[in-house]
Amino acid sequence: MATVGNSIEQATKWLREGYPVAIPTETVYGLAANACREDALIRIFEAKRRPLFDPLIVHLPTVNSILPYAQDIPRLAFALWERYSPGPLTLVLPKSALLPDLLSSGLPTAAFRIPAHPVALQVLNAIDFPLAAPSANLFGRVSPTTAVHVLDHLGDHIPYVLDGGPCSVGLESTIIDLSGPEPILRREGGIPSQSIEDELKITLQRPAHAFRIHDGFVPSAGTLDNHYAPKVPLICYHNNEELTNIVSRLPAIHPPDPTARTADLPPMREPTLGMLRFQSDIPDHFRDLCERNKMGTIRIIEILSPSGDLKEAARNLFAAMRSLEEGCDLILAEQAPEHGLGLAINDRLRRASFKGTTR
Ligand code: AMP
Ligand code: MG
Repeated sequence: MATVGNSIEQATKWLREGYPVAIPTETVYGLAANACREDALIRIFEAKRRPLFDPLIVHLPTVNSILPYAQDIPRLAFALWERYSPGPLTLVLPKSALLPDLLSSGLPTAAFRIPAHPVALQVLNAIDFPLAAPSANLFGRVSPTTAVHVLDHLGDHIPYVLDGGPCSVGLESTIIDLSGPEPILRREGGIPSQSIEDELKITLQRPAHAFRIHDGFVPSAGTLDNHYAPKVPLICYHNNEELTNIVSRLPAIHPPDPTARTADLPPMREPTLGMLRFQSDIPDHFRDLCERNKMGTIRIIEILSPSGDLKEAARNLFAAMRSLEEGCDLILAEQAPEHGLGLAINDRLRRASFKGTTR
């Protein structure tokens, strides 16, 4: 089992030896390893059970420290770093030969981020190599925002978890691809794309394929249709009316077992429901509906932000999804308002609820 502690020395000792350790960042906990060593990168992919086609983000402590690892850096990159770094912003740039192809899944580009968490910066300043650090969770599952979350998924596969407390942003970084002629938004994240556009007076392209796998590889982070998924099914809805409609269809979603109706078998248990709410509690008529029709027992209600604050909601999202997946058969998740950080929250909820095959 991994040791949990707050020793920068312990963490950097493992990193220098080529082993992955979990480190806190302001977005989510990262599973960090030497970005220039293929043996270290392989250990990340193995621990996370992440497919090799999903490239990793490179973490460095300053703009200057990025320069040797990137090429043809456009002026917009410096303007974005000036305004948002350190912080939850990742830029995709042409990579230099110092970074192995394994890191970028064969792409000629790499994704770069300067994290703002003081502990992540202490680690990066104590070593002389960049860190590849995808989220420290099993591939495709809910991201970790505490050291305990990391232990839960990866405790048996990594030597050390550096504990820096709960993550302050709670959602992955916003990814902008600057490797082509126009800046492309690859992922909504901790900095709302709309505010980036407003503040820098730029327009980000949002091509339909930007969030998809195409041509056989994944063009961006965490952008598979099915990702961030809890262990149990999750259904998203927009408003209380839609919630009521979903609940009246629940018997079809969780059909009763016909054998359970025979005299010698106990009756089929009603499904336990987990309610993820953005701001308000569930409406009373909904509770009545569930009870009257025996459609399900509401076991856990997680309210992301009672004051309706998007930052607070983002911070609480993944921890709430983890508590619901542990205690319920089915999660019904209310979407956040479709603006600002709400776009990133809803992106994660939609991917968590995706039912098809990944494309
Ligand atoms: P994670 O930390 O798991 O949320 O994921 C890191 C993400 O960064 C990966 O899923 C990648 O798809 C994305 N990424 C890394 N390198 C590139 C790149 N060269 N181009 C586009 N996206 C990238
Ligand atoms: Mg991830």
